[in-house]
Amino acid sequence: MKTIQAYRFALDLNPGQERAVLAHAGAARVAHNWALARVKAVMDQRAAERTYGVPDALLTESISWTLAGLRKAWNAIKPDVAPWWAEVSKEAFNTGLDALARGLKNWADSRTGKRKGRPVGFPRFKSRRRTTPSVRFTTGTIRVEPDRKHVVLPRLGRLKLHESARKLARRLDNDTARIMSATVRRDGGRWHVSFTVEVERAERTPARPDSVVGVDVGIKHLAVLSTGELVDNPRHLVAAQARLRALGRALSRRTGPDRRTDRRASKRWGRAAARLGRAHARVTNLRRDGLHKLTTRLAREHGTIVVEDLNVTGMLANRRLARHIADAGFAEIRRQLDYKATWNGSRLIVADRWYPSSKTCSGCGATKAKLALSEREYHCEACGLIMDRDRNAAANLAGLAAEFDTAGSGPVAARGADQKTRVHGQVAVKREPGTTPVGQTGTVPPQGRTTNHALTRAH
Ligand SMILES: [Zn+2]
Repeated sequence: MKTIQAYRFALDLNPGQERAVLAHAGAARVAHNWALARVKAVMDQRAAERTYGVPDALLTESISWTLAGLRKAWNAIKPDVAPWWAEVSKEAFNTGLDALARGLKNWADSRTGKRKGRPVGFPRFKSRRRTTPSVRFTTGTIRVEPDRKHVVLPRLGRLKLHESARKLARRLDNDTARIMSATVRRDGGRWHVSFTVEVERAERTPARPDSVVGVDVGIKHLAVLSTGELVDNPRHLVAAQARLRALGRALSRRTGPDRRTDRRASKRWGRAAARLGRAHARVTNLRRDGLHKLTTRLAREHGTIVVEDLNVTGMLANRRLARHIADAGFAEIRRQLDYKATWNGSRLIVADRWYPSSKTCSGCGATKAKLALSEREYHCEACGLIMDRDRNAAANLAGLAAEFDTAGSGPVAARGADQKTRVHGQVAVKREPGTTPVGQTGTVPPQGRTTNHALTRAH
């Protein structure tokens, strides 16, 4: 099975290398902004000409929005706009032009309805202050050194890695991976190199193909499984979160920028903001690392994994920071399980966001109208079941798998009305095309619901 995977490593750049990367990122920005200004000028000119009644055939010629078109225009003009162009790799300009070409396409597709989701705005100019510096290399010498502690990139040369690249190097050595591109970027105050790699993966099957597990993602614990297991948050996460809160308070006491009064941020504000950014990155990394360990284990072991689309109750329960972190966790666990399930031959089912996993009794199926957030235990009035709240939710998620199976293969068993069967039938075709083999992912409507909002797409 061929997959495209990203391998990301932290870099230790020396000051000269950092300057070189920043020069490349700056060059990307210059090309991007020049091309954007050009596109805008041509659009404005044509719009003005139309208002004067100039016939379409005589309008100023429009310029191509494709990467090839933008590159051609840039190459013709670069000696004038950027006389220093030979000092950086041409890949730097390509990075900026590629970003613009994609931005223009997304905007155009969004306007014509070809692209779904939230409307995409017209590309904006990139400012030096507010853009994440990044440059992508797609050609030339890109390799991991035999010591696995250094990488070689065009123009930038030999860069030291902060961590070993052994996982990638092993695959490169036995020819199961091919590097397609390398991107150097500064995120969270630290430099990283990210390789996009085509990987040949061995077909796998989960250790227990018939096993079903429900996963309830939380804040106190990383997750609660329907098997009863509580998966703890990674070590140091609590301390990192406390630091994050403290740094947020410190930042609010500094003099920040104010657009209305044109006030510029103080130096101390800038430093505090950088510290806060690094703390954010650390919390994200710790959590992501914990999630990676969990999702790998789940996908290797169980044949079917059921997760929730979004934790609506959790969103209401927590103050902003906790909520933000939990939301990120939901999105991340879904994303990881999606591809890991494919790799391991297991199946991911995403429960609809309206499915009342917390309010339903996992014993008898009775649903409560209300469940206070302070109630950490689920007490069922119908059958007397008493269970930890999160464990009950996880058990309900696991139970959905059975329903999904009946939906996919013929008539619905048990309490299904005609209408419900129809809903299930629709769900069966809502599997994601392209990303995963048929039957690997899908959505399940909540039990007993027949309305259409139960069918919101999971992806
Ligand atoms: Zn019950």
